[in-house]
Amino acid sequence: MRFFSTNNSNNIVDLREAVLHSMPADKGLYMPCEIPTLKSSFFKSAANISLSEIAYEMAYPFLSKDFSKADIHEIIERSVTFPAPLVQVEKGIHSLELWHGPTLAFKDFGARFMAALMSRLVEQEDRELHILVATSGDTGGAVASGFLGVPNVKVTILFPQGKVSPLQEKQLTSLGQNIHAIEIDGTFDDCQAIVKRAFLDDELKAHSMMASANSINISRLIPQTFYYVHAYGQIEEKEHVQIAVPSGNFGNLTAGLLAKKMGLPISGFIAATNANTIVPQYIQTGKFNPRPSVQTISNAMDVGNPSNFPRMLLLYGGDHQAMCKDIQGFTLSDSLTKKCIQDVFEQSGYILDPHGAIAYRALKELLKKGESGIFLETAHPAKFLPVMKEVLGEIPVPKALSSLANKKAEKACFPADYEQVKEHLLNKA
Ligand SMILES: *Cc1c(COP(=O)(O)O)cnc(C)c1O
Repeated sequence: MRFFSTNNSNNIVDLREAVLHSMPADKGLYMPCEIPTLKSSFFKSAANISLSEIAYEMAYPFLSKDFSKADIHEIIERSVTFPAPLVQVEKGIHSLELWHGPTLAFKDFGARFMAALMSRLVEQEDRELHILVATSGDTGGAVASGFLGVPNVKVTILFPQGKVSPLQEKQLTSLGQNIHAIEIDGTFDDCQAIVKRAFLDDELKAHSMMASANSINISRLIPQTFYYVHAYGQIEEKEHVQIAVPSGNFGNLTAGLLAKKMGLPISGFIAATNANTIVPQYIQTGKFNPRPSVQTISNAMDVGNPSNFPRMLLLYGGDHQAMCKDIQGFTLSDSLTKKCIQDVFEQSGYILDPHGAIAYRALKELLKKGESGIFLETAHPAKFLPVMKEVLGEIPVPKALSSLANKKAEKACFPADYEQVKEHLLNKA
């Protein structure tokens, strides 16, 4: 498969270039040159085949030019290592639980697949691959876990001091081996600015081969198409399915749109956001107005300029009306999100996290008669303990999280100063 830049359709690269470099020099986003379609019999059979079998069929057209069938199987076996069960919350409304991976958020799907793919792509290189990533929450942990122990790869994660939860921080700082964490006395934007500058730095580039693991990497979207088909396989009422996606940078929803283009026979999507309402407003008005993000209790969706929007637009040929046929918008305030978590717990005993709760509520308000709904549960509620405690009191904490508390953390600390971080990177390498 070859990929082109959303900023210039003549800028075409192979899989290796798109995956190892994430972003074209023209600052566009890579998209597949043609979107493969699968037979309707494949989607009909989704109920009877496993998530890894679905994954193989869907990944194959993207990878078959660069890898053998055995290699593709191996990449899938290494990355799809946990289930994505569909759980009925009430009649007609189902939760697709995407938090059964090692870091308890859906980002494990993208990060593990990217890690498996990148580690194969660097096998032919004689230099070490250095992955740099800035994180404000779940991405860093998933990337760290995905690359842990991968030979010939080193990972450095930059995170803003005091702006990731204590458990999230432990997920970044306690792994050791080839994973290094740097705490920046600054904001997420400072971290991202340092990472971006590092990629343009000739001295660093001469030192090691550098790649980014940020969420715009196309290899993170491919594996996110798998679970949409798996969810469709598991739902009983297959006629008029709506899928609500709690969204921030809109990678998850873009993957859903890809799955639909590949043939997944669902009716449509709901773009569910918190107070950062840029995309729902675009759906409503046809105007895309990025602005500074607002802080909310669903912090993984606090994004003011959704980076995947150009991909969404491109999938509809820039046609606002066409996009509106497939996507409805929905937004929910923090106070109503808390109320929703409380109501659902009282009615059914199901514990929603603050992100999934918005998507649940979207289905509740927008599903029409005869439609059935799936919402994506993007993280385990225990990743957001302070809010959950406030709303529901104590909730069960999985061992993968509680055991982190006793682990030894290691991190380097720097001010938001590029030269100091660069010096550190050069000395460590
Ligand atoms: C990253 C994240 C989101 C937002 O996903 P996008 O693909 O950026 O829209 C939603 N929920 C959780 C828990 C996340 O970590």
